[in-house]
This record gives sequence, structure tokens and C-alpha cells, in this order.
Amino acid sequence: MGIPIPEFKVLLYGPSFNPAGIKARARFENGSLAISLRKGSFLVPPHLLTLRTGGYDGRQWLVTWQSHDGAYSAMLQGEEELEAFAQLAPAEIGQQLQQARKNHTRVGRRFKLGLALLALVLLLPLLALGLFRANADRLGDWAVSQISLEQEQRLGDLVFAQMRPSLKLVEQGPASAAVTAIGKRLTDESLYRYQFHVVVDPRIDVYALPGGHIVVTTGLLQAANNVGEAAGVLAHEISHVEQRHALRSMVHSIGPRALLGVLLGNYSGGVWGNLAEHLDSLNYGREQESEADLEGLKILRRAGVPVNGMETFFAKMAAREDALLHLLARHPAGKERLATLRATMAVNSTYDLRPLSIDWEVVRTDL
Ligand SMILES: [Zn+2]
Repeated sequence: MGIPIPEFKVLLYGPSFNPAGIKARARFENGSLAISLRKGSFLVPPHLLTLRTGGYDGRQWLVTWQSHDGAYSAMLQGEEELEAFAQLAPAEIGQQLQQARKNHTRVGRRFKLGLALLALVLLLPLLALGLFRANADRLGDWAVSQISLEQEQRLGDLVFAQMRPSLKLVEQGPASAAVTAIGKRLTDESLYRYQFHVVVDPRIDVYALPGGHIVVTTGLLQAANNVGEAAGVLAHEISHVEQRHALRSMVHSIGPRALLGVLLGNYSGGVWGNLAEHLDSLNYGREQESEADLEGLKILRRAGVPVNGMETFFAKMAAREDALLHLLARHPAGKERLATLRATMAVNSTYDLRPLSIDWEVVRTDL
């Protein structure tokens, strides 16, 4: 044990001091607390002194006393100051000192336990993320199964609102009217509330958002030779909505945020983030493509629209190789897919035709 430091530093609080506290030196003189300030010093007799412990880890010791003008206290901080105080303190506060030392250790331990818990809480999201990655497919499917049709529509509206500022929409004229008319015919019996949007974009592309927003480019409409081809592509896209492929694709590309949104029942941008960023990853696997083709055929037949347009359009696109062709990145069209489509078209092919009264040449010249 070293030689006790005869003095220790304190921060003084009291009615006659600056509320932020003033620095002072202190020592014990015959049991009395002697405080030295820049302007003079004073003594507090031992029987007036009370020792309290405070601070989040029990490391703040406070010596308090009552004076004629109110309550005063001297705060000790830091292990060295506490040690100096403990060695110099008079017997009158010996018992309080013992208690303070016990608190110090006990609170210190509790503090360490708290730190361990805090670390665990901070690590939990990382653990959750790891678990999500390992079970992403299953968790994603579960999340999709929990989303109601209304919630899906809300998500779709959110994505569309987020992407709208960057879209050059065609809201009037023959192209927009034609796409709306075809869409309406194809979705008459659907539970979804569809909205068809034409955007000025030379790339050949079409995509569906969850809940029924379908965006088609002027490039695609230009590449369709007739109304049947346009209807075929739209029927395929509508199937991606009806089969919830669009929702599944979005939920999977968002990952943990989507899970959080579903768990909280919150379908706002605050939880889901900027969904428009995930548009490029809205694409489908081979199975989903075939499913969209076959369901698309059913939609076309029910609507009385010739079914061959979907096949001729995708076959034409599959034979093309150019930079404008974004369609095939989203909707891969391999030989097998086209073969399945043709085989299905060959059977069960009777249905009532109800022609769409749209002059496709007028639509194309307007683009
Ligand atoms: Zn597709």
C-alpha cells in the first residue's frame, strides 16, 4: 500500500456556487472536511457529513452536508480520488464508506452484466440476418403467404409512387388507350385492381409490380406487330401478378426488411425502403415463366383474344439479339419454354373470339 495522498479533488455543488459545479481541493483536518477554493477555504465538521454513491456504475461518490443556506455536496470521481478519500476519511463516516465500497463492487458487477446483455442485443440483428440468409427462401415464402391482397396492392402503389418521378408516362393518345383497353379486357374477372402504364422508353421491356401495376415501354409496343402480340405479352405479365411472382420476386430481393415489414404489419416506405431500387432484380425463373405462359393462355382464351400472339412475340424476341431487348432478361425464353407453350396451344384450342376493336397501325404510328 502506498502513502495516502493527503488531498483529493472534488466538484462542489451548492446554493452559492455555479450550478455546473466548481473544482476544489479537499482534505480531512481532524475529521473535518476542509475544502480549499481559490478564494479561501472552509471546514465541515464530521457529524454533518453523509456519503452517497451514484453514477451508472457506482463510481461517483458524493459527500453531502446541510448548511444554513441549503444543501451542499462534493463529488469525487475516479479511482484515485476515491482511494485517497477512503484512506483519509474519519471514523464518523466509516460505516457509510464500507457501504459505498460494497455498492461500488456490486453495481460494477451489475454494470458488466448489463454490458454483456447490451452486446447480445446488438448482436441479435446480425444473428437474425445470418439466420435469414440461411433460410431466405423459406422465410421469403412465409412472408409472401402473410401478405394480404390489400397489403400487396399497397406495396405496389408504394413502388409505383417511388418510381413515378423517373418515368416518362404516356397518359393520353391511342397507345395509352389501347393498352388500357386490352388490359381491362384481360383482367375483367380478376380480384386485383390493375393499372396499365405506357412509358416512353426505346427498350423492349414490360414488368409487373406486386398488386397490379403493369408498365410497358413504347419500345415493346413498337416491336409488337399486331394487337394480338401486345395482348399476349400483357396476358403473360398479368399472370406474373395473379400467380404472385412479382410479389415473391420483390420480397426475396428485399430480404430481411420485407420480413420486418410483414412482422410489424407495416407497409410504408419507412420500413420497406426504396423499393424502386429493386426493379432491375424483378425477374423470374424458368418455372415461373412457363407458368405465366400457360396461365396467360387461359386468360387470353377467357377474354376471347387470339392466343397465338404471345407465342409469336416471344419467339420473335428469342431470335433477336440486341441491346434494346430487356424483355428476355426478365422473362427468359428458352427453347423448352416455347416448346411447352406451343404444345399447350395445340390442345384444347376452342374458345369464343371477341375481337378487340383497336387499329394497331394507328397505335404504332403514334409512338
Ligand atoms: Zn415472364
